[in-house]
Formats: sequence, C-alpha cells, structure tokens
Amino acid sequence: MADNIFLKIINKEIPAEIIYEDDITIAFNDISPKAPTHILVVPKKEIKKLSETSKQDQEILGHLLLVVKKITDKYQIKDFRVIVNNGAGAGQTVFHLHLHILAGRDFGWPPG
Ligand code: AMP
Repeated sequence: MADNIFLKIINKEIPAEIIYEDDITIAFNDISPKAPTHILVVPKKEIKKLSETSKQDQEILGHLLLVVKKITDKYQIKDFRVIVNNGAGAGQTVFHLHLHILAGRDFGWPPG
C-alpha cells in the first residue's frame, strides 16, 4: 500500500471523484470542498512539496498548470483561484504536491 493518501488515489487503492487523468497527472474533487468547485491537481510522481522540486521537474510543474487550464476550459470556469500550500505553516496537510482549483464564489484578497 502507498503511504500517502494521494498516492493511494493515484494507485486506485482508494476511490476519488476523478475528473481528469493522464500519464503525469490526476485531478479529483476535494473531499472537503472550500468552494462550490474545489478540484485538486496532483502529479503522479511522488513529490512532497513545491519547495522540494528542481529543474528536472520543470515539465511536470508546467504540465500541472496546463491541466488547470484544460479543466477550467472544459467546465467553462472563467474566474478561479489556484493555490499551493507549501509546508504545515502554510496549511499543507497532505505531503504530496497538489494544486487547489477553487471557484464558484467570491474570494477575499489577501487570503487568510
Ligand atoms: P492541503 O491542506 O493544501 O495539503 O490540501 C489537502 C487537501 O486534500 C484538503 O483540502 C483535503 O480536504 C483534501 N483531501 C484529503 N483527503 C482527501 C481524499 N481522500 N480525497 C480528496 N481530497 C482529500
């Protein structure tokens, strides 16, 4: 069994509402949504957090943002926010890199 919850979803060891998948990425609905639309875009490579990436992850990192575009285009989401929490102090609770796509309500700035 994989040792983090997102790897378990990637390996289909536990279910998720998967809305997009390719060789590099999987995207699924957040189990505890913070907005009417709350999708997580996750690299299949085991990367704990953004600050642990390097030049060799350039393709993956670019691909994640293009998947955000693909999903928001597909669902005609015009206004959305993309968030990466890096480290526990910034709110990261699952230590496998992921982008949050949040949409469907107004968002304050600066974020809390
Ligand atoms: P973060 O706090 O940035 O690490 O975000 C982790 C996110 O993963 C949270 O928004 C959780 O609600 C979400 N999450 C945790 N477990 C699952 C799961 N099994 N399926 C979908 N989303 C999950």
